[in-house]
Amino acid sequence: MQKKYLMIPGPTPIPPEVTLAMSRPMIGHRSGDFAKLHERVVAKLKQVFKTQNDIYILTNSGTGGMEMAVANIVNPGDEVLALSTGNFGERFAKIAKEYGAKVDLVDFGWGSAVDLKVVEEKLRQNPNYKAVLATHNETSTGVKNDIAGIAALTKNHRAVLIVDAVSSLGGMEFDTDGWGVDVVVTGSQKALMLPPGLAFISFSQKALEAAQDNKNPKFYFSLPAAKKALAEWNTAYTPAVSLFFGLEAALDLILEEGLDKVIKRHKLLARACREGVKALGLKLFPAEENASDTVTAVAGDNRYDPEQLRKVLRTKYGVTFAGGQKDLKGKIFRIGHMGYVDKLDIITALGALEMALLEIGYPVELGAGVKKAMEVITGGEV
Ligand code: PLP
Repeated sequence: MQKKYLMIPGPTPIPPEVTLAMSRPMIGHRSGDFAKLHERVVAKLKQVFKTQNDIYILTNSGTGGMEMAVANIVNPGDEVLALSTGNFGERFAKIAKEYGAKVDLVDFGWGSAVDLKVVEEKLRQNPNYKAVLATHNETSTGVKNDIAGIAALTKNHRAVLIVDAVSSLGGMEFDTDGWGVDVVVTGSQKALMLPPGLAFISFSQKALEAAQDNKNPKFYFSLPAAKKALAEWNTAYTPAVSLFFGLEAALDLILEEGLDKVIKRHKLLARACREGVKALGLKLFPAEENASDTVTAVAGDNRYDPEQLRKVLRTKYGVTFAGGQKDLKGKIFRIGHMGYVDKLDIITALGALEMALLEIGYPVELGAGVKKAMEVITGGEV
């Protein structure tokens, strides 16, 4: 017998309360019950987004949310500044290109964070950017970016700041209104503890105004259609009703724990994970000050092969870590710790990591990583 431990940066494990809620009998999506549910979950989402802006719930994955943002704000020929730190930053730029934007792509490198000085200079040089695209938590490299800092720069610029918070919202501090982020996109299958299938998107007044003259062809991603439906707590097309049931259960869990505590838990567990990894002599992939609180990326080195390690973890211990994406395939591995994750999950991850490392011949002192993580956890606030 072997249990399965899904420790990738999304999809993430689902709390039993959420699974149970999703098994409720179906209701009609044009019913009063659905409208009431929709109104309640949007009110709860607003607390997690920390916003008064309207939030749209879309029945598609996170990329659909990114596409909806671009499709409604960026006109063909518009200039767009895309800040990329990895796979998902590149994806945002690609979407904008598909919609005919003139994309100024600044590649800060896979493993590095956005340099605010570069952003400041770019915005100073070009007052015409219609939008700035940024990734809060670059899941492919385990790097977090300073969205508050970027928002402070776009506040007095024409550009609408569109942020991909798919792998951070609900797990890392994010203050939509306090920072002044115009469009925030996130997805269901990460820190929000739901299966894949929903995306969430908020639009500020500045973003709504920028969307008014939009000329892109669009149908499923039409903001006017979504807006009209939301006014009656409806959705433009049939929503994933069962996921809405689960969403309310997941949001209740977050709000009952308290958002601040949820964020602190992620911070503590991320630190425990990083310290544990370092105690084994492994190297973190990003610089520690840029390290994400929801996913830890660990660099491979000439003493071990990350893919061989992952295989042993999966087959012998039932533990799934993620590998690297694109050029980083075989060069790093990533431990997801977002959403329904607690202290003992980190101990499990590190314990399995140590045993698997030993098995592939890496010089490991059994217990060293776990001990360090335990010290961090027992000394923590949550
Ligand atoms: N952005 C980030 C930062 C992500 O981590 C992901 C998914 O891994 C996406 C966007 C894309 O989301 P989806 O796979 O739900 O379309």
